Amino acid sequence: MQESSNYGFATRAVHVGNEVGKDSGAIKRPITMGNSYALPYDPTDMNWSSASGNLYTRNGGTNQKYLQERVASLEGGEDCVVLASGVAALSGLFFALLKQGDHVIFSSVTYIAVYRLLHELFNNKFGVETTLVDTSDPANVEAAIRPNTKLIHIETPGNPTLTISDIAAIADIAHRHGALLSVDNTFASPYNQRPIELGADFAVESLTKYVNGHGDAMGGAIVGKKEYLDQIRAVSQVNLGGAISPFNAWLIMRGSVTLPLRMRQHNENAMQVARWLEAQPCVSFVAYPGLERHKGHAVAKKQMAPGFGGVLSFGLKADHDTHNRFVSHLKVITSAVSLGHDESLIVFLGENDERQYLYPPEFHNGFFRFSVGIEDAADIIADLKQALEQVGLL
Ligand SMILES: *Cc1c(COP(=O)(O)O)cnc(C)c1O
Repeated sequence: MQESSNYGFATRAVHVGNEVGKDSGAIKRPITMGNSYALPYDPTDMNWSSASGNLYTRNGGTNQKYLQERVASLEGGEDCVVLASGVAALSGLFFALLKQGDHVIFSSVTYIAVYRLLHELFNNKFGVETTLVDTSDPANVEAAIRPNTKLIHIETPGNPTLTISDIAAIADIAHRHGALLSVDNTFASPYNQRPIELGADFAVESLTKYVNGHGDAMGGAIVGKKEYLDQIRAVSQVNLGGAISPFNAWLIMRGSVTLPLRMRQHNENAMQVARWLEAQPCVSFVAYPGLERHKGHAVAKKQMAPGFGGVLSFGLKADHDTHNRFVSHLKVITSAVSLGHDESLIVFLGENDERQYLYPPEFHNGFFRFSVGIEDAADIIADLKQALEQVGLL
């Protein structure tokens, strides 16, 4: 099925990008592991840097194309490029759009690689001006605008504090000042939040997380208007070379079929876990945008529907070692980075995080980022409970 916005999200998650094979009759498109495609009779006029048509898998291949059709449809954008990882997508976007002398405003709470790219590399190596801003208040964004502001990059919910930024309000600011807005949509996934429909120019995401959902492949996507995507594809896929493997594109395509089902379960489980944690006296704070007391709840309610995702952060009233001992007693929940997998994953982010000064004060004594999985909520909660009991906090 080609993109057809007449169909609902779940129907498009199953069908867009898939088709019955014309020759084979196979009802699923196969994995094409070739890295080269046959040349025409006279190839001498070909553009070897072209990203259109099948030439070489770094320039684009069939499985990448199928996945691009699906992700563009789910994000509600005109075009999509998929790359080897979420970070390949983020750096690909920045590399294609920015040049020396441009100015970028970006959220003070973002995935660590964005902080490295914009706070250390693009400014110091390439002469791009960058300003780190608490984008949870659009007024801060407005105040940071310069005549040469080219791009505003926000992450909402932000990793790892779950800080919420108002996409529609910031899109309006960007466009009034001739800038573009990109939104990292990894935490919400397109099931819960579609930045382009809210006015953003680009939705960027790690497909490694919810879209694939099974913790077995890496990928990233940039969705937006074709005029920009052609540029990004040429620069960042062909010449930076962050092409995704056809096998990973196929795995993510397969995982994405159940995105709506999984997200419903993530949304529901995370809400239950957040409410349970909130009620424990040994828990110092819970950051989850679905909770009424969360600072960004009203904005989250406006721009995230039908749910608030599966990631939350929380703190314990305990010393450093008790945090590690608590984790060591968990049986259902695994201590590992990444998020958005089927299984529950937890990470202890200690007091020494270099970006702590950018986080709200409750995060300063160390905290957990918890990606609530799709297991039975009762088992997840029972696991937390027994581990808290083991360390004497319950
Ligand atoms: C994981 C993550 C990324 C990076 O994605 P990779 O696929 O690991 O490269 C980017 N943004 C957010 C919000 C993430 O959680």
